[in-house]
Amino acid sequence: MIIVKTPEQIKLMRIAGRITGEAILAGAEMIRPGVSTKAIDDRIRHYIEKCGAKPSFLGYGGFPGSACISVNTQVIHGIPSYHTVLEEGDIVKLDVGAYIDGFHGDSANTFPVGKISAEAQRLIDVTKQSFFLGLEAAGKEDARIGDIGAAIDGYVTANGCSTVKKYVGHGVGADLHEDPNVPNFGRAGRGARLCRGMVIAIEPMINLGRPEVRELSDGWTVVTADGSLSAHYEHTVALTENGPEMLTKVD
Ligand code: MG
Ligand code: MG
Repeated sequence: MIIVKTPEQIKLMRIAGRITGEAILAGAEMIRPGVSTKAIDDRIRHYIEKCGAKPSFLGYGGFPGSACISVNTQVIHGIPSYHTVLEEGDIVKLDVGAYIDGFHGDSANTFPVGKISAEAQRLIDVTKQSFFLGLEAAGKEDARIGDIGAAIDGYVTANGCSTVKKYVGHGVGADLHEDPNVPNFGRAGRGARLCRGMVIAIEPMINLGRPEVRELSDGWTVVTADGSLSAHYEHTVALTENGPEMLTKVD
């Protein structure tokens, strides 16, 4: 069941969204060679708590971190660790949620560590651009869920990358994951109709190689099956009378 939000509820969700976006920036400031993903996670947790919010991911399904921090071939759900130390040329994904006033925000971005390869940069650029095409599709009259995925996957495929199918975007609200699912692939004109008051996380997870992924034995970390690089870009988006509004975008 899709839970539509009132304008008052979306107003509250702007607070959770802003803290989420700022927490990612706080973590991103620390990114450089030699820094562990746990140190970044600590910073993100402190920032969220300083704002009077709670990290949405901490303890979610037993997840041990405040952020999911995934490096290179890790797609999503990387566990922050003192043993995972960033190196020059890595790409690192910060995926963060913050909960306050009864609502969650959810956002992710991919960052370079020092100087990265041209193909890694291209992957980051394609992933981010695919999000904005999905966002644009969500803002069109009579848009449906399938329009978002069709826009994302069409662009990604045209640029020689591939869209992860196993994990998808989702509704966001009082629960971190609500209906509907928001796949990063699909057919235009199919799926639930988008309407004012819906709040969704649009979050393309894009691989440089093939789309298949697998989960590591830690029970969390998802990696590309073929060992290729992966990038992620996500915002919590409210469909308002003025069109789609990115609640988690602060930069
Ligand atoms: Mg997320
Ligand atoms: Mg999400």
